[in-house]
Amino acid sequence: MTGVGKTFGTSQVIDDVALHADAGEFVVFVGPSGCGKSTLLRLIAGLETPDTGSIRIDERDVTRVHPAQRGVAMVFQSYALYPHMSVADNMGFGLRIRGEKRAAIREQVAHAARILQLEHLLDRKPRQLSGGQRQRVAIGRAIVRQPEIFLFDEPLSNLDAALRGQMRIELARLHAQLGATMVYVTHDQVEAMTLASRIVVLNRGRVEQIGAPLELYRRPANRFVAGFLGAPR
Ligand code: ADP
Ligand code: MG
Repeated sequence: MTGVGKTFGTSQVIDDVALHADAGEFVVFVGPSGCGKSTLLRLIAGLETPDTGSIRIDERDVTRVHPAQRGVAMVFQSYALYPHMSVADNMGFGLRIRGEKRAAIREQVAHAARILQLEHLLDRKPRQLSGGQRQRVAIGRAIVRQPEIFLFDEPLSNLDAALRGQMRIELARLHAQLGATMVYVTHDQVEAMTLASRIVVLNRGRVEQIGAPLELYRRPANRFVAGFLGAPR
């Protein structure tokens, strides 16, 4: 994306942001609460439209393309599963409203369930699942859509520390297995350092620094970045 800006009312929430991800990268947005991480993700998803600038996916200008036609899928922090639907139906729902055939949906759901180790839970309702299992179902809903880009908005922040550690490992495995591009928002330094191929440090809607985790850790561009990720000094 280049020159992307977004204003809500009188506040400039995203200010002239330019960034790029190579196919298959794991890009992590970090920064303090309110700095614009979710808004930036929603701009990529097409849930918001920028006031300035443009967004491209695979050389295609998607700045004004409908979310469903962008080849992206978003996983939210509050998983918002449908309580009355089974795990399988929750995962297949997006494909059903897209009008896909029953057999194709079943195949995609089975594939995602295999990857996420949810095969034995497909008939359960969300309330019969643990927090980690629910989060896996939410990720499954994204996988079945076979997006080019996965967007994650603090997907682990509702989980306890032990489960967060475990899910972090699963996300890394998922990324390696799918080879898809992932854009991931967190305010957790450990998540950022362990998952990212590249970290984007945001502050008040602007990019402070972009770089590989070790690069930012060793050579933070300024005090702000150092405060977030830098080596202790
Ligand atoms: P983060 O995810 O980094 O915590 P957000 O992107 O959610 O930050 O929000 C950035 C700023 O934009 C905040 O000040 C927030 O209040 C504001 N904001 C986000 N969405 C809207 C909206 N739809 N209308 C008005 N203000 C918004
Ligand atoms: Mg947010």
